[in-house]
Amino acid sequence: MTSSPRSYVVRTYGCQMNEHDSERIAGLLDADGLVAVDDEADADVVVLNTCCIRENADNKLYGNLGHLKRWKEAKEGRQIVVSGCLAQKDRDLVRQKAPWTDVVLGTHNVHRATDLLHHASEHGPITEILDEAVIDDHALFPSALPARRETSYNAWVTIQIGCDNSCAFCIVPAVRGAEISRPFDDVVAEVHDLASQGVTEVTLLGQNVNSYGRDLQLAQRRDGDTGAKLRPLFADLVTAVAAVPGIRRVRFTSPHPKDMRPETFAAMAAAPQVCEHLHYPLQSGSDRVLSLMHRGYTAERYLERLTLARATIADLAVSTDIIVGFPGETDADFERTLEVAAAAEYDYAFTFIFSPREGTEAATMTEHFVDPSVVAERFERLRIVVERSAIAKHRARIGRVEEVLVEGPSKRDPEVITGRTRQNKLVHFRPAQPVRIGAYATVEVTGAAPHHLTGEFRELLAEPSHKRRIAVAAG
Ligand code: SF4
Repeated sequence: MTSSPRSYVVRTYGCQMNEHDSERIAGLLDADGLVAVDDEADADVVVLNTCCIRENADNKLYGNLGHLKRWKEAKEGRQIVVSGCLAQKDRDLVRQKAPWTDVVLGTHNVHRATDLLHHASEHGPITEILDEAVIDDHALFPSALPARRETSYNAWVTIQIGCDNSCAFCIVPAVRGAEISRPFDDVVAEVHDLASQGVTEVTLLGQNVNSYGRDLQLAQRRDGDTGAKLRPLFADLVTAVAAVPGIRRVRFTSPHPKDMRPETFAAMAAAPQVCEHLHYPLQSGSDRVLSLMHRGYTAERYLERLTLARATIADLAVSTDIIVGFPGETDADFERTLEVAAAAEYDYAFTFIFSPREGTEAATMTEHFVDPSVVAERFERLRIVVERSAIAKHRARIGRVEEVLVEGPSKRDPEVITGRTRQNKLVHFRPAQPVRIGAYATVEVTGAAPHHLTGEFRELLAEPSHKRRIAVAAG
């Protein structure tokens, strides 16, 4: 008698790094013979890949685990896996609060997901958290592991793990460890491999991508290997990745303003494959708050680098992250944030109300927490400033013909296609002919809103090389 294969579902919370880890966990489960399903009701294994950046992340996790207790009891053999940053932080607490969890694994041992599931089946529940990354290529950079990508035309490529900074509001260094750069040749080889599978857009991924290679150079100096050429840095990597045949678009996230170098802007400008988009997190416009946050730059230096970036890279779109109500933020500090945000003229901004994350320095600054009603009022004022520049930037594009990468039917109207421009702007348009997901087309921009553009289809530039369903039929 043949039994049907076991099935799984992976639920991801948090940033691109987590989404990429989920792809790898899914790839490992695929390789182990399990089948992906959409619904927990059909699954034998549920993986919760957690994040501790988001507000109330722990309440949500333990709430989800409460529901999954009944799910698990409903069918024999079901298993629950908790992975990611919150698992790394909470460790044994996960199984203390939800003892029905089968596997708890952290950020440094994603590659062990299926081994730990087998272990749990045979010997019972297990928590395995490593304090730091293991120096082993597969463990350190699980890009070498199989991955189940959601799309066939673009891919994330991990170039670095961990972070050497100590931003007062951020838990990442505690849960992801020190910065380790992936060997240059490995990154370039992975991009060649992705291009051979039909991927045309890659996003280089790390917590602080523009410090890529610094640790490799330090190791080279420490080893006395100074006669040879110094190991490449981020700008060299961007150039090499852009040169891979078949790659039409290169993006990266996230850079840190402190480490943004003119060489990177020059590399972006020189390679036509590198998209004209820079995510450039401000966090605050007040030098006093930036110092409290340990960000390592002043507003003036930030704006100077931004001016240089725009002078070097034609038609550059800029996005940012800003925190409102960091502990101790005064009215004067906030006014400075408004001034800098207005001067920076962002294309879009992710604005956040400060919320303390357990384990961070900022969470201990309780006596300086800002009154929530004051923060709410500041948040609204900032929203108006950033939306004003976003809509102005979008209106300036009306009448232009933009290249878009087709992402699929719009969520609201399946007759409308959504594409993304090189500047990372969403454009909604109705195609005059069938277009496939992953195709490149030109669209004339005819309308602008703060968060998207609308346009009219002009021509198809390139079909995807892979066979995927048609996004929408014309007429
Ligand atoms: S640079 Fe700062 S915000 Fe970014 S991951 Fe590192 S500590 Fe966190």
